[in-house]
Amino acid sequence: MGKMIECAKVDPSSGCTHVVRGRDEEEVLKNAMEHAKEHGIREVTPELAAKVKAAIRDD
Ligand SMILES: [Zn+2]
Repeated sequence: MGKMIECAKVDPSSGCTHVVRGRDEEEVLKNAMEHAKEHGIREVTPELAAKVKAAIRDD
């Protein structure tokens, strides 16, 4: 079983339905940071990192 993050759970205002997946927490975080670039996010603040971590679910 892996991990997943629903983009909309991190930023509901984005209207994004993308789901980021990874085989563990580290990988799903890495993939989420890659996906953040598609939203024009170049720098991950501690606040954003905390929101992303809080949104991690079992896949
Ligand atoms: Zn997104």
